[in-house]
Amino acid sequence: MGARILIVEDEPAQVELLEYNLKASGFETDVAMDGEEALLRIRESNPDLVILDWMLPGLSGVEVCRRIRADKSTRRVPIILLTARGEEQDRLRGLDTGADDYVVKPYSPSEVIARVRAVLRRAGTALDEEVIEWADIEMDLGAHKVTRGGKNLHLSPIEFKLLRTLIERPGRVYSREQLLDQVWGQDINVEVRTVDVHVRRLRKVLNENGGDDLIRTVRGEGYAVEKNA
Ligand code: CA
Repeated sequence: MGARILIVEDEPAQVELLEYNLKASGFETDVAMDGEEALLRIRESNPDLVILDWMLPGLSGVEVCRRIRADKSTRRVPIILLTARGEEQDRLRGLDTGADDYVVKPYSPSEVIARVRAVLRRAGTALDEEVIEWADIEMDLGAHKVTRGGKNLHLSPIEFKLLRTLIERPGRVYSREQLLDQVWGQDINVEVRTVDVHVRRLRKVLNENGGDDLIRTVRGEGYAVEKNA
């Protein structure tokens, strides 16, 4: 499990190349085939980074970029623009598109991965080799280990992802639908109630050695962990 990357690209072969290489490098991927879909997916699934093609049907990549930056709920997501060699590149250099970086086509997948890592690091997103700490919990993302108060906890992969999602953005309330999307993935058909079942299990494991209940149930909304724990 790694940072979630939204690929916005209309050419299936390019999508396949990016998806394959990002997944092989430990990232999770999501795809939008045009700008409108991209704007929807960004709001719904809150990706860690967007790879955005300049040439899209309908809204151009630059217009999508502008709209992402204009929306308060999405303006902070890092964006890497993909551009064709030629005049676009020159225009891009002189343009304030709001993108964090750009890659010129044809690109090598390893170049894109390197840029993705660099931009994520600059944005302060935890990469897979890192450890996330929150309250008295420590998650070692590389080793897939969790401790609370120094004691090992045994979490299933789903519970691990749930916990990671919640503590990566303390204070943010996730709806059950958002958690389904982020933890189980958008293509999987799971009932919304399943989220409650797994949150219950996660709570039980987190609290097995005592300590405060760290997960907050927000009535009618979903789940969150406190901002200041
Ligand atoms: Ca394209």
